[in-house]
Amino acid sequence: MSVKALKGFKDIVPGEVETWQYIEKTARDIFHRFDFSEIKVPILEKTKLFVRSIGETTDIVEKEMYTFTDRNGSSLTMRPEGTAPVLRAYIENGLQSKKAVQKLYTIGPMFRHERPQKGRLRQFHQMSVEVLGTDLPRVDAEVVAMAWLIVKELGLTASLEINSLGCKKCRPSFNKALLSFLDQAENLCDDCQRRIKINPLRVLDCKSANCREQYVKAPSILDHICVGCDEHFKSVKEGLGLLGVPYKVNSFMVRGLDYYTRTTFELITGDLGAQSAIGAGGRYDGLVQQLGGPDVPGIGFAMGMERLALLLEQQEQSVPLPAVDIFVAALGETAQKKGFALTHRLRQAGLTVIMDHQDRSLKNQMKQAGRANARYALILGEEELAKGRAVLRNMENREQHDVAVTEDMTGIIMQNVK
Ligand code: ATP
Ligand code: MG
Repeated sequence: MSVKALKGFKDIVPGEVETWQYIEKTARDIFHRFDFSEIKVPILEKTKLFVRSIGETTDIVEKEMYTFTDRNGSSLTMRPEGTAPVLRAYIENGLQSKKAVQKLYTIGPMFRHERPQKGRLRQFHQMSVEVLGTDLPRVDAEVVAMAWLIVKELGLTASLEINSLGCKKCRPSFNKALLSFLDQAENLCDDCQRRIKINPLRVLDCKSANCREQYVKAPSILDHICVGCDEHFKSVKEGLGLLGVPYKVNSFMVRGLDYYTRTTFELITGDLGAQSAIGAGGRYDGLVQQLGGPDVPGIGFAMGMERLALLLEQQEQSVPLPAVDIFVAALGETAQKKGFALTHRLRQAGLTVIMDHQDRSLKNQMKQAGRANARYALILGEEELAKGRAVLRNMENREQHDVAVTEDMTGIIMQNVK
């Protein structure tokens, strides 16, 4: 029996990969326009990095991490998210002293042991960004607007929800109000009863219908945030207004990671069933210091590439395919030889060129050129070649012209094609 891939681990094959490349190219371009630099970080880290940052009582740390003991006896974890590794790298490489405000992005696989379903995998991919070294509310607005722009430039429709989770100072007062409300709640699910004891804020994220119905009446965190957090949130909203980014305030949004403070946001869609979040993020002031680094504030977000790819399909957005400049169709051994060498020269000169080495009929080769969406076909026939000529056909308007076959025909073809 052949060996199959693991459950929740997927190949991305030609035909699909073009969508991924398009998503990545669009996002990279936007990241650079916003002056972000790429950072690449390892997939494997010490387990305590994630426990310390994401939080011991979160779903990710409690039940989703791929954690194992390596041959030296250390506990290692396949990264379930990108913020902790990027912050570790920021601290370890002293990036703070190189630039007061670091704007970083990274793209790559993440690992969570979840129940695989549409839009939910065990190895999935995120594009994530972090801004370290500033807590100006305009930066929050800019980061949210950047996430929004990615969705927009991909031609997708999603809605943006924002909230403020307050800070170390105001969270305790909200926790108190929430706990006294939860005291009155009835028949809460086992998970919520457990969360009440260890991390009450997390109950608001419960998916059970009975719990959710009751939480509609729960106190709003926005009524409990301190003056500083309130002003910050107002400025973020003002910033989003100035940038023309439409949003809705959702005071029940809590996010699944413990490190968030102040601004949090989610980009959501109704088109992917239960997997409604395509991207999410927020501010995490204090986290860098908590990981042993300088006391710098930070904000970031992560977008799921699987969900973006699914959404492109669902919302019927076209994905531009990579262009083929020329299909070299050679007929007969002499022409095949000539075409073989020419193809290589044209590729060296920067064109995308396809050639079939099997000397099939002209009809067959033209069909292949059509299927490949080639812009031009260069037809090298025995007879024409004997006269030192070849035919360059524009595949779109079918116009043809005669070109001289010379030692340096690359230049002539480049002139015609570019
Ligand atoms: P969900 O509520 O769907 O579990 P999450 O809150 O766990 O999402 P984050 O940790 O904020 O998600 O990750 C950011 C983004 O990464 C999500 O919005 C989603 O697009 C994507 N993502 C998270 N987990 C998965 C997964 N298991 N498979 C595919 N994409 C995922
Ligand atoms: Mg999750």
